[in-house]
Amino acid sequence: MADDDMTTSPPLNSELYKQIVAVTGPSGVLTGTDASSRSCDPLCITPTLAGMIVRPADIEQLARVISLCARFNQPMVVQGGRTGVAGGAYSEPDDVVISLERMNKIEDICVASQTAVVQAGVTIEALQNAVQAQGLFYPIDLGSKGTATLGGTIATNAGGNRVIRWGMTRQNILGIEAVLADGTLVSSLGRLLKNNTGYDLKHLFIGSEGTFGVVSRAVVKLVPLPSTHYVAFVSVASFDKVVALLARARRLPILSAFEVMWSDFYSLVAPDALSKGPVAPGQPYYILIEGLGYNETADQMIFNEFLEEALASELMVDAVVAASEKQCQDFWRVREGTEAIVREMSPFIAFDVSVEIPCVEAYLSAVREALCTPYPEARFVTFGHLGDNNIHLGITVGPHTHDVAHHIEQLVYAALPRFGGAITAEHGIGQFKKAFMKEQKSSGEKEVMRRMRAAMDPARLINREVMF
Ligand SMILES: Cc1cc2nc3c(=O)[nH]c(=O)nc-3n(C[C@H](O)[C@H](O)[C@H](O)COP(=O)(O)OP(=O)(O)OC[C@H]3O[C@@H](n4cnc5c(N)ncnc54)[C@H](O)[C@@H]3O)c2cc1C
Repeated sequence: MADDDMTTSPPLNSELYKQIVAVTGPSGVLTGTDASSRSCDPLCITPTLAGMIVRPADIEQLARVISLCARFNQPMVVQGGRTGVAGGAYSEPDDVVISLERMNKIEDICVASQTAVVQAGVTIEALQNAVQAQGLFYPIDLGSKGTATLGGTIATNAGGNRVIRWGMTRQNILGIEAVLADGTLVSSLGRLLKNNTGYDLKHLFIGSEGTFGVVSRAVVKLVPLPSTHYVAFVSVASFDKVVALLARARRLPILSAFEVMWSDFYSLVAPDALSKGPVAPGQPYYILIEGLGYNETADQMIFNEFLEEALASELMVDAVVAASEKQCQDFWRVREGTEAIVREMSPFIAFDVSVEIPCVEAYLSAVREALCTPYPEARFVTFGHLGDNNIHLGITVGPHTHDVAHHIEQLVYAALPRFGGAITAEHGIGQFKKAFMKEQKSSGEKEVMRRMRAAMDPARLINREVMF
């Protein structure tokens, strides 16, 4: 059905449908196959089941639509770019989906304060490009940036590749505007770095996965656009040396990424991303080390000195420095080459656990051992933002992987407490990890979370199946 085709029979409550269309206009509502043909999962086709997708064009429409849904006691699911991998944007046939896709304007970029006011539906890539044109840089960077939205990254407190330097989304947001489940507008769009006037409400919404309301706009914190870019790809012979190399890399003032790939990842992805991998295969670990800075002479010198010193200390077996910006991008393509994983490993289960850095290899050995007994055919792919404690793990045990998903998850998560770990470092709980969250939180924490959610959304109308 075309956007403005009104011939489809109204889904859900016909009176609610009529009133929503009166607010957004027909082009603001999708039903039938226009709704179901949208996958709410980036890794496998999963239709959006909701009766309708509502696409408000501005904050006023958004608040009015949410008020209407509240009046009709209508459950809602929020969708940004639908790149989330925790099932947070999944819907049921009796849901109304609120999509932020038409709220996609960058309203203001202020060079003096290094901030921008941005609507929630703007993609991270569009934001990066717009601020770059003004000599500024938004440091949140993730493989899904072409589709992931500012609202979705705020809701999930997304991390990504440059957390080691600039932190998670939480550290890069100064102000937030959101609409609560009853339509109340909460505008907290301050541009100030320091403001201790009462509760800092933005932190309530960051990482709340839509359970406290719908983020409509935010003030993002920007930094000057780096003018130098160095990327090295190195191989390392032991995990102790990886940890020692990380400690040295942290002394580099320009360090912006330290991405570790295990040999199971490198042997699968490197030949797919580049005809020849950046360094020779045969080592257990490969690392992409990136520096972003502002002084060509000094940055190049310290980056090269760091690599030479690490080679001389035998922390690395091999190292290649990208000779051009194109080669920098090629090296990143190896790290972000998820296509080969999806093609070769599917069906697989993706994990994004957090583990204390010195324990990472012991944790992974425990997981491999626990899985290989019941599933001798298990295959793993392992990579991660090691400097942020964050390991991504893909596991397949063959065509029946999804049938035994819960058991695999149990085994992967059971080993975490011994190593000070957490079940999600950046993707969030969504719907997929709900069953495991209760074991992660103390009873006091669970009680506070329950009371906060009940206060913000007493009828539990928004993202009712998400988190707990
Ligand atoms: C190839 C690939 C690479 C990725 N790399 C990373 C990575 O490095 N780091 C990382 O953290 N994640 C990564 N992700 C996961 C994903 O991109 C992030 O979770 C991202 O933040 C989701 O944004 P989205 O706009 O797609 O949100 P969606 O997937 O649409 O939604 C995610 C959750 O946020 C809620 N939500 C969305 N918009 C709003 C809003 N405006 N207000 C309130 N709630 C909202 C949804 O209801 C849902 O619960 C990756 C995913 C892919 C496919």
